[in-house]
Amino acid sequence: MKKHILEFLPCELKKYLPDEKKYRVSQILNWIYKNHEIDFYKMSTLPQSLREELFTKLENFLPEIIKIDISKDGTKKFLLSLYDKNKIEMVLIPNDNKNTLCISSQVGCARNCSFCATASMGLIRNLEIYEILSQVFLAIKELEENKLTNIVFMGMGEPLDNLENVIKAVRILQDEQCFNFSPRRITISTCGIIPKLKELADSGLKIKLAVSLNSTIQEKREQLMPVCRKYPLTELKNALLSFRKKTAFRITFEYVLIKDFNMGKEDVKALLKFLGDISCKLNVIKWNEVPSMPFKSPSEEEVTKFILRMQKLSSAVTYRKSRGQDINGACGQLATKVT
Ligand code: SF4
Repeated sequence: MKKHILEFLPCELKKYLPDEKKYRVSQILNWIYKNHEIDFYKMSTLPQSLREELFTKLENFLPEIIKIDISKDGTKKFLLSLYDKNKIEMVLIPNDNKNTLCISSQVGCARNCSFCATASMGLIRNLEIYEILSQVFLAIKELEENKLTNIVFMGMGEPLDNLENVIKAVRILQDEQCFNFSPRRITISTCGIIPKLKELADSGLKIKLAVSLNSTIQEKREQLMPVCRKYPLTELKNALLSFRKKTAFRITFEYVLIKDFNMGKEDVKALLKFLGDISCKLNVIKWNEVPSMPFKSPSEEEVTKFILRMQKLSSAVTYRKSRGQDINGACGQLATKVT
């Protein structure tokens, strides 16, 4: 298979087209990343011979958007069909002057978290670099005049299980001749794959890290997230303290509030102890009910009580209202029906 045009850093594209002058390579990049035009034949400032060369040497297809669900809060969930007919979802969340895109890194996921709809698909395959970036490209086109401001790897899949492709995709997202996103606008979320956290820290990539925590009591977290059997909380904490030393950004912890499960006094005590000496932010979010799953969503009063109990934490605690719930586009709700 030919390489896809979205998989190149500028210096790599120059090497791939050795006979082309540097300004021609810049023109190609401008067409893609400034004009959002990926059809080689429409790149009207390029000579016909170069357009033909691009057509011969490179792929430029995008996933097909087969469905867009629009929530009453403005959130849009896109169902995308890949070249092999596998499906993924991405979610575009408008919020005041911010537009956040939640992207997938895998088709399905192997990590089997018990609160997550994606887990029911199992892992089908990793996304290629261009498939990760195509989601961003499509979202930018969809937004037209509005700017895409933030990208979160919180869609389908565990990004650290596809780390090599995710790292390369982020480098292209951040390159100033490509998507030109600031590191502080990109967040990678993980369930806590310890060796990969080390690899990510050692890669030198500048990104924000979010950790899906959900309980800091070992047995309870194991029930929610089987990954915790292999990588226990004590080891996860050490890995995160080491990660923090190598990055400029505070770690964000995500905590899904599940009624009668992880919101009691002992849960708060364990959470305060776990987070106490990590420079971090804590995002709490209400469990989004998914039919067929046993968990229940707490009431607003129960959420307020939990947050009040967390006041002792010196780090910021944010209650993140779930978006796109009515279209199953909220956290933990993404799962395509595999056909
Ligand atoms: S929560 Fe994330 S890591 Fe866990 S099964 Fe779902 S997609 Fe995978």
